[in-house]
Amino acid sequence: MSGAMSEACELLHRWANTLPRLNASYSAGEIPSNGIYLVFEKGESAHAGSRIVRVGTHRGNNRLAKRLHEHLFKPNKDRSIFRKHIGRCLLADDPFLEQWNFDLTSRANKLKYAGHVDIGRQKEVEARVTQYIGERLEFVVFPVEGKHERLDLEKSLLATIHGCVDCCPSPTWLGLRHQTKIIREGLWNVQGVGGQPLSVLDVQALACLTAAREP
Ligand SMILES: [Zn+2]
Repeated sequence: MSGAMSEACELLHRWANTLPRLNASYSAGEIPSNGIYLVFEKGESAHAGSRIVRVGTHRGNNRLAKRLHEHLFKPNKDRSIFRKHIGRCLLADDPFLEQWNFDLTSRANKLKYAGHVDIGRQKEVEARVTQYIGERLEFVVFPVEGKHERLDLEKSLLATIHGCVDCCPSPTWLGLRHQTKIIREGLWNVQGVGGQPLSVLDVQALACLTAAREP
């Protein structure tokens, strides 16, 4: 079983490594309206190529570009769990971590934590997260139109990679500093690894489908 799973993961990585690479200076025209993104990170490799370190998508229709913008550029960790995770690792043993973990989205929490957050430090950490993303991360995107199709496929991609014995973090990977074991295992994702892994045939179908959709 695990051997077969690794075969699907290897095929997935071989295909993902052929897709056009984008970095933080992508242009909006390169992003499909609806789809899934896969993230690569400098220094992380698997299956003789770049290792997929995160899988992500969006819920609302036509929101892929907006979601990517929130992850990559918008200095608001409470709108992007990905930014929050990276910040947690950059802070690791820093006592400011406690403040970084507050969720300041709701009005109630804004009032509750008013005066308890060092805003200057928060801005500084947001800038470090943006810098880390810009310097270390690249991503690829592919179109998936339907919302349920996107969410199911995201889960299956995560399950495929999470269950693969060949996809391991390097000894210097930033994610190893995270408090959550599931991240330390190699993916910047905490939820959704319990889906149905893809078969080799599933990955082949995915590669054909997205190739056929290209202009
Ligand atoms: Zn793998």
